[in-house]
Amino acid sequence: MDEVIVVGAGIGGLTLGIALHQAGIPCRIFESAAELRAVGVGINLLPHATRELAALGLEDALERVAIKTADATFFNRFGQLIHQEPLGRAAGYAHPQFSIHRGDLQMVLRDAFIECAGGDRLITNRHCLGVAQDAHGVTVTFSDGLGGGERYAVQGRVAIACDGINSAVRKQFFPDEGEPRYSGVNMWRGVTRWRPILSGASMIRAGWLSHGKMVIYPIRASGSDGLQLVNWVAEIETPTYRKRDWNRTGALADFIGAFIDWHFDWLDVPAFIRAADSVLEFPMVDQDPLPRWSFGRVTLLGDAAHPMVPRGSNGAGQAILDVRALTTALLENPDPVAALAAYEAQRREATARVVLTNRSNPPDAILREVFQRTHDRPFGNIDDVISRAELAAMSEGYKQIAGYSQEGLSKSS
Ligand SMILES: Cc1cc2nc3c(=O)[nH]c(=O)nc-3n(C[C@H](O)[C@H](O)[C@H](O)COP(=O)(O)OP(=O)(O)OC[C@H]3O[C@@H](n4cnc5c(N)ncnc54)[C@H](O)[C@@H]3O)c2cc1C
Repeated sequence: MDEVIVVGAGIGGLTLGIALHQAGIPCRIFESAAELRAVGVGINLLPHATRELAALGLEDALERVAIKTADATFFNRFGQLIHQEPLGRAAGYAHPQFSIHRGDLQMVLRDAFIECAGGDRLITNRHCLGVAQDAHGVTVTFSDGLGGGERYAVQGRVAIACDGINSAVRKQFFPDEGEPRYSGVNMWRGVTRWRPILSGASMIRAGWLSHGKMVIYPIRASGSDGLQLVNWVAEIETPTYRKRDWNRTGALADFIGAFIDWHFDWLDVPAFIRAADSVLEFPMVDQDPLPRWSFGRVTLLGDAAHPMVPRGSNGAGQAILDVRALTTALLENPDPVAALAAYEAQRREATARVVLTNRSNPPDAILREVFQRTHDRPFGNIDDVISRAELAAMSEGYKQIAGYSQEGLSKSS
C-alpha cells in the first residue's frame, strides 16, 4: 500500500521507476506489452534531458549505444545550406545531445531499472483498465495484456499514468476528449545503413512540409563495414491519414515522388530512402493541453499528459523532465495529494507551451521562413534572404520555451 504504481514501461515510466528507486520511494511498473521489445526508430535527447539521465547514472550506458549529435544543419529542397549550428557538447553544453534508437534507449532504461530495483518490480502483460481511489490509497485494475480476460487489482499510495498517447487513465478522466488531433502532416519513417553523412553526427532538416521535408540523423555508430544506422523521416502535408499504429508499414510509392529530384552533393536522397530496411507510416498528431493532470492520488506523466507533434525533439525529453519534478515533489510533500498538485503546478503550463510551440514555431520554422521569403526558389546568397541574427534568434526562442537554452540550464540546478 506504500508503493507508487507506475502504469507503462515506456521512456517516462522506466525513467520514473529508476528515479523513485534512487530516491528511496518504493514502486512497481506495470506494462501492457507481454515483453519489452526494442520497438520504434530514432529519438533525440537534448541536454536538458541528458542532464537528468546523467544524474541517474545513465550517461555512460547511453553513450555506448547512441550518437553524440554535433550539429543541426538546415537545407532548402534544392540542397542549399541555410543554417548550421553546433549541438550538445559541441555547443558548449555540459551534457551531450544523444540521437538514439528508441529501442536502445528503452533497453538501457529497462536494464538500469531491473539492476537497481529488481526484475520482480517490472510486471509485463498488465494492461491498465482504470483507477479508483479513496482517502487511503489507489486501486489500479489491469487485464492480462490488451484485451485479456483476467482481472488484477493492485493497491498503492499513488498511481502515475505513463501509458503514452492513448492513455487509458487520461481517457478515464477526460472521456469526451476524442482521438488525437491530426496536424495535417503525414510521416513516413525508416532507418537506412549508410556512410556517414556530413559530419557523421549531423541532424539534417531539409525542404518544407508543403512539398516534402526530410529529417535525417544517425542513431548508431558505424560497424566494421563503415555504415551507420541512419534514421530518417519524410514529412508531407497530406489531407487524409490512417490512425496511428506504431507498427504500420508504409509504402515507398506514397511519398518518394516528393524527393525524386533530391540528388545533392551531400546525399542522394532517393537512393538513401530506397535502401531503407523498412518503412513505417505515422500521422503527426498531438492533443490540446489539458486543464488538469492530477486527480487526488492519480496523475499523468509524459505523452499521457502532454502528447506533442515530433517537431522539436522534445517528446522523450519533456517526459524525463516530468520525472525530476514528480520525484522531488513526492520527496518534499508527505501528503501524496499535495505532492501531485505541486508536480502539476511545476510542469503543466511549461509543457503546454512546448505542445503549442511545436505546432507553430518549432526549430524547423527556419525552413518555413526561407521557403516563404524565396517563394520556393533557389537563392543566390542566404545572407540576402535572412540574417544570421534572425536565424540565431529563431533557434534560441525554441530552446528557451522547451527549457534547454544554455543560459537557462546553467542557472537551474
Ligand atoms: C511502440 C512505440 C514506438 C515508438 N516509437 C517512437 C519513435 O520511433 N520515435 C519517437 O520519437 N517516439 C516514439 N515513440 C513515442 C515516444 O516513446 C514518446 O513520445 C516519448 O518517449 C514519451 O514517452 P512516454 O513514456 O510518455 O510514452 P511511451 O514511450 O509511448 O510509453 C508508453 C508505454 O505505456 C504502455 N502502455 C500503453 N497503454 C497501457 C496501458 N493501458 N496499461 C499499461 N501500459 C500501457 C506502452 O506499451 C508503452 O510501453 C514510440 C512509442 C511507442 C509506444
